[in-house]
Amino acid sequence: MTEADVLVVGAGPAGLTAATYLARFHRSVLVADGGDPRASWIPVSHNMPGFPAGITGDAILARMREQAEEYGATIEPGRVTELLQQRSQFTARLSDAEVTARAVLLATGVVDHHPPLPGVERAIERALVRICPICDGYEATDKAVAILGDSDMGAREAAFLRTYSDRVTLIHTGPPDALTERAALADLGVDVVETPIETVRLEGDRVTAFCWNGQDRAFDLIYSALGTTPNAALARSLGARLAEDGRLEVDLRQRTSVPGLWAAGDVVRGLNQIAVATAEAAVASTDIHNALRRADGLTL
Ligand SMILES: Cc1cc2nc3c(=O)[nH]c(=O)nc-3n(C[C@H](O)[C@H](O)[C@H](O)COP(=O)(O)OP(=O)(O)OC[C@H]3O[C@@H](n4cnc5c(N)ncnc54)[C@H](O)[C@@H]3O)c2cc1C
Repeated sequence: MTEADVLVVGAGPAGLTAATYLARFHRSVLVADGGDPRASWIPVSHNMPGFPAGITGDAILARMREQAEEYGATIEPGRVTELLQQRSQFTARLSDAEVTARAVLLATGVVDHHPPLPGVERAIERALVRICPICDGYEATDKAVAILGDSDMGAREAAFLRTYSDRVTLIHTGPPDALTERAALADLGVDVVETPIETVRLEGDRVTAFCWNGQDRAFDLIYSALGTTPNAALARSLGARLAEDGRLEVDLRQRTSVPGLWAAGDVVRGLNQIAVATAEAAVASTDIHNALRRADGLTL
C-alpha cells in the first residue's frame, strides 16, 4: 500500500488499537511496524483489563494484530525513517517505499534504558528484573525488593514500592549529589545502598549487591528506575511541541501541535500503561475520522 487515509507509525498496543478503530470506520489504514514493541517484553501482565489469569505481552499483541487485520488494516514491517508534510498531505519513507497519507498517528513508544548487567534481557523475561511498578508491584508484595537508580527517580520508585513491601532498598549507582531525597527515604524505612553498578549481579533467582563495605545484600527482584527515551524524532522533525521529558504534548483529542498529526501511547506524556495507550488510540482514531469527514466537506 503506498497511499492511505491514515498512516499509523508503530505496531504496539496503541498503533494496533488505532488500526482496528480506523479500519472499522472504513478508513484505509497502513501500520508501519518497526518491531520489538515494549509490550513484547511483558512476561505476564496481571493488570490488563479482561484477563484475570494474566496474559503475556506477545499474546496481547497477537490478538490486537489479528483484530486489526480482520477489518482490513495493512501492517507492513519496517521503520518510517522520514516524515514530511506538504499542505494537507504527509509523505513517509517506509523501508524502500514512499507512502502518502492524509493523517498520521504516531504510536512510536519509548526505549527503556536497561541496566548494563550481564543477562539483563533474560532476567526481564523471568521478571527478576522489572521495569514498571504500576504494572507488577502487586506481584512484589512482601518480597525483598531493590530499586536500581542513579537519580531521584529511583527514590520516587522506592517510595512507591513501600505500598507493597516493608523490605525496600534503593541501590543508588549515580553520583551522591544526584540523590537528594535521603531524609524522606529514611522516614519511609527505605534502605539506601550506594555502590557502583558493577557490584550488582543477577544470580539465578536472586539479585545480589556486593558492597564495598562488606555488607552484601540479596533481593528477590530488582526494579530498574533508569528511565526511557521517547521515540519522538519524526515528530521533532515536523516541529511538534515536546514536553520537558521529550515526550509529545497533545490536547484532549490526542492532537499534537502539528495539524494532521496525532499521537498515542507511551510516546505521549502519561502512565506508560496498555490501558492508557489503547484509550488514547481510541480517542485519536475517532478524532482523525471526524477530522477527515470535515475535510471532505461533511459539516454534520
Ligand atoms: C517489562 C515490561 C513489563 C510491562 N508490563 C506491563 C503490564 O503488566 N501492564 C501494562 O499495562 N503495561 C506494561 N508495560 C508497559 C507497556 O508495555 C507499554 O505501556 C505499552 O507497550 C505501550 O504501547 P505503545 O504502543 O505506546 O508502545 P510500544 O509497545 O513500545 O510500541 C511502539 C512501537 O513503535 C515502533 N516504532 C518506533 N518508531 C518507529 C518508526 N519510526 N517506524 C515504525 N515503527 C516505529 C517500535 O518499534 C514499537 O514496535 C510493561 C513494559 C515493560 C517493558
